[in-house]
Amino acid sequence: MKFLMVGAGFSSAVIARKLAEQGHQCVVIDQRNHVAGNCYSERDQDTNVMVHTYGPHIFHTDDKEVWDYVNRWVEFKPYINRVKTTSQGAVYSLPINLHTINQYFGKTLNPTEAKAFIESQADTSITAPQTFEEQAMRFVGKDFYEAFFKGYTQKQWGVHPSTLPASILKRLPVRFNYDDNYFNHKYQGMPVNGYTEIVEKILAHENIEVKLGTSFDKSMEGEFDHVFYSGPIDAYFEYQHGRLGYRTLDFNQEKHDGDYQGTAVMNYGDVEVPYTRITEHKYFSPWEEHEKTVIYKEYSRLAEPEDIPYYPIRFAGGEGVEQLANYVELANQQSKVTFVGRLGTYRYLDMDVTIREALTVAEKSLSAIENKEAIAPFYVSVI
Ligand code: UDP
Repeated sequence: MKFLMVGAGFSSAVIARKLAEQGHQCVVIDQRNHVAGNCYSERDQDTNVMVHTYGPHIFHTDDKEVWDYVNRWVEFKPYINRVKTTSQGAVYSLPINLHTINQYFGKTLNPTEAKAFIESQADTSITAPQTFEEQAMRFVGKDFYEAFFKGYTQKQWGVHPSTLPASILKRLPVRFNYDDNYFNHKYQGMPVNGYTEIVEKILAHENIEVKLGTSFDKSMEGEFDHVFYSGPIDAYFEYQHGRLGYRTLDFNQEKHDGDYQGTAVMNYGDVEVPYTRITEHKYFSPWEEHEKTVIYKEYSRLAEPEDIPYYPIRFAGGEGVEQLANYVELANQQSKVTFVGRLGTYRYLDMDVTIREALTVAEKSLSAIENKEAIAPFYVSVI
């Protein structure tokens, strides 16, 4: 059969490869002039530093199959994300761990004492935290909430944390030991030659044709048996229920001699500092040596129609929820399209989850083909 994949990020590449390996013909299009979507990375010409062009990406997962999958294509080197944050003129370790607690409060607590101490800081009257603010107040208390989360989150999402869901903060662990690994996952690493190479290699198959600089148009559908669409779901339906909200990011790039901040990611907790974080890209490749350095100051704002969509603004009670439900209803009436990925399903997805879901979509699509059934519009629950 003949398939069109819209967008050349992980979702499309993984699905195309699985179908191509079963002898199907796949055409992958992307309006950009490169593959890999927002994971795209390239070497900066002046400094030779591998730059994560659309912001920092760290591969981490508990899913052995996904880890093996990415390692099948390229070499990964061990990389542990150890984030720091600057708040009120001091630097602390994130995620909140025993070092953060002892440093911030000027104490020498052991894990048991620290747990009891943080519990004494917490607002235990909150029994079932719903919002970001409640989650923070309940689990780390007012001081940490205000130092590390309130200002950063206000900048990142443009709204007060009391209007955001608890799930956003649940991405971050709190630890009562000195483990400062930002992620809890079993597997973590960085591809030696960047992320672009992974997607290029996945796409390098005789049954896959990649067309860059090519925007999707509904008139293309006629030439294919089915379309896997990883573009924005509202764009597919020509925004007939209005535009879904996204946060976009602006990166102010600077180049310096030597080192800039001595670490890959420095967050800024104070609302008065206009950027959320500074990324120093050469620290994502600690096995390399560079005399110069490239940094990104990262600013978050509401996406305008022409901006790159990054984070879906999808909050219970927000207007996006009803809009999304309308788009999902339209999508469920489609017989020739499957919506995939971060933009196709309007969710905050990490790379490993994107790959896991794409593998599932490909497997389920292949069994649908084998059983002469229709390929479904969705293979994940979107709402
Ligand atoms: N967050 C925060 N302070 C920080 C880091 C994160 O308040 O120093 C909040 C913020 O709301 C963010 C969320 O926690 O959106 C999830 O953080 P993560 O680092 O997972 O965000 P990402 O790297 O995906 O942008």
